[in-house]
Amino acid sequence: MKIGFVGAGVGTLHAALLLTKRYPEIEITIFEKETRAGGRLASVDFESGGRIDQGPTIVLMPGKLQEQLKEAGLEGVELKRIDPLYDLHFDDGTVVTKQADVVDQAIAIERQFGEGRGFQEFMNQKSKDYDVSVSKFLERSYFRKRELLHPSMLAPLVKMHAMETAHDHLKRFFKSKYLRMAYSFPTFYIGGNPYTTPSIYGLIPYREQEEGVWYVKGGYFSLAERMYEALIERGVQFKFNQSVERVMIREGQAKGLIVEGQEYHYDSVVLNGEFPLMEYLVEGKLPKKYVPSGGTLLLYFKIHGKVDLPVHRFLMPSDLKPLMTSIFQKDELPEHPAVYLFNPSKVDDSLTEADDSVVYALVPSPRGYDQEKYEAHGFIDQVLAKIEQHLPGFQSQIAEMKIRTPQDAQDFGLYEGGSFGIAPTIRQSAALKTQAKPYADIERLYAVGASVHPCGGVPIVMMGATLLVNRMEQEMRWKNGYSDERIRSM
Ligand SMILES: Cc1cc2nc3c(=O)[nH]c(=O)nc-3n(C[C@H](O)[C@H](O)[C@H](O)COP(=O)(O)OP(=O)(O)OC[C@H]3O[C@@H](n4cnc5c(N)ncnc54)[C@H](O)[C@@H]3O)c2cc1C
Repeated sequence: MKIGFVGAGVGTLHAALLLTKRYPEIEITIFEKETRAGGRLASVDFESGGRIDQGPTIVLMPGKLQEQLKEAGLEGVELKRIDPLYDLHFDDGTVVTKQADVVDQAIAIERQFGEGRGFQEFMNQKSKDYDVSVSKFLERSYFRKRELLHPSMLAPLVKMHAMETAHDHLKRFFKSKYLRMAYSFPTFYIGGNPYTTPSIYGLIPYREQEEGVWYVKGGYFSLAERMYEALIERGVQFKFNQSVERVMIREGQAKGLIVEGQEYHYDSVVLNGEFPLMEYLVEGKLPKKYVPSGGTLLLYFKIHGKVDLPVHRFLMPSDLKPLMTSIFQKDELPEHPAVYLFNPSKVDDSLTEADDSVVYALVPSPRGYDQEKYEAHGFIDQVLAKIEQHLPGFQSQIAEMKIRTPQDAQDFGLYEGGSFGIAPTIRQSAALKTQAKPYADIERLYAVGASVHPCGGVPIVMMGATLLVNRMEQEMRWKNGYSDERIRSM
């Protein structure tokens, strides 16, 4: 059995690890247009020395991440718990800190806002909703869109008030506008606007509070390096600098790939790039229109000395709604931006020389902006001034700064420059999203990644890789006892 993969993102890496663990005889070739594996899981390397994560920084669902790595035979990835999880500094001076311990957090919320009870109710209710969501929505594939209409699927959605927006749903638990913002803004972790994203994605802040925020020792990018090394040891072939041009379809079946004019024949093909961009490659298919996720301006800093920051800090406007309206509806730069600051040097001295630090700033932004366009609006200076106001002296400590814009993301192959795949909307969720088998009329063609069910985010893309491998096993009859009926009744 020979399988060809298009793209070496974490979806591919995890699927290939699972496949080679379960079926060592399988021959896998991975085509990647860049010079390295990992996709968005990458590092920024400074000329003056030092590295920092380019994309993912926050490890959510650590239990799931470790469980999945173990299943794929990759041991020894060390995770560190971050406590407190992070703090939010609103422009009006209000500070909300999220403690790692749930009881400590309830006490802190009671002291600051008198809403400890609301917090407990939120945690209790979301714990039940989460269990249902994992089994009904996250850990299952769909065969047909109408499966979502089955009473066993609709009833829990109604019970969870899944159609309310993530922000408005929190009015059921919290009176404070700060708590509503603090427990709904994480929908932006997957590029969603908390004021329009359905509350089912509001389970992210619950899970984050329940299991904590963790850090991969050596940086999140080192996970991709570990996965790559393990695959090389298992005999998987990587072909870098090779952009796939076409997926060959013959008589309703994927037969191979055309790469730089050359034909490669495979028994199965897996697509790991962004949808709908992958659809351009599939013979006979036309790309569909999707809603892209939010964009981000990223500033990476090599810093002389240390900075007075925790690992994660969010500088927030006093009202998040105008910011979200600017970037998602008006396509305009926000008057009062939010800035997420990541300071891994606080817990990891392997990233740079002992006396220095590396810091990254992520700023939610409309898509379609390049550096010139930001500079024309003075936006980068505005962001730097905001950081300076918060951390006096910061600018004088900068040894080197690198910039990544939504236009860079688009050039890399992220759909319309959104950082996180397609947006988490109802019409782009669960059975309505591209599945591990993207086309009912094409056999042996599969898909995995942030724009494929279940969702973006490293551990969840890895869950998608598990769904993909299960589906391949079922369809190719590698494994007894895995049937359509079983999946459908799950
Ligand atoms: C700024 C930022 C912050 C993030 N923060 C977090 C976070 O804190 N926590 C978290 O869990 N997640 C986070 N994410 C999301 C996470 O990075 C993604 O969900 C995940 O890495 C996507 O993996 P993927 O499998 O979809 O592959 P991708 O990373 O999309 O990789 C796909 C690969 O396919 C290659 N490719 C595309 N087309 C072709 C072609 N034609 N031929 C050959 N190769 C091709 C690309 O070069 C790329 O390497 C963040 C993302 C960004 C951008």
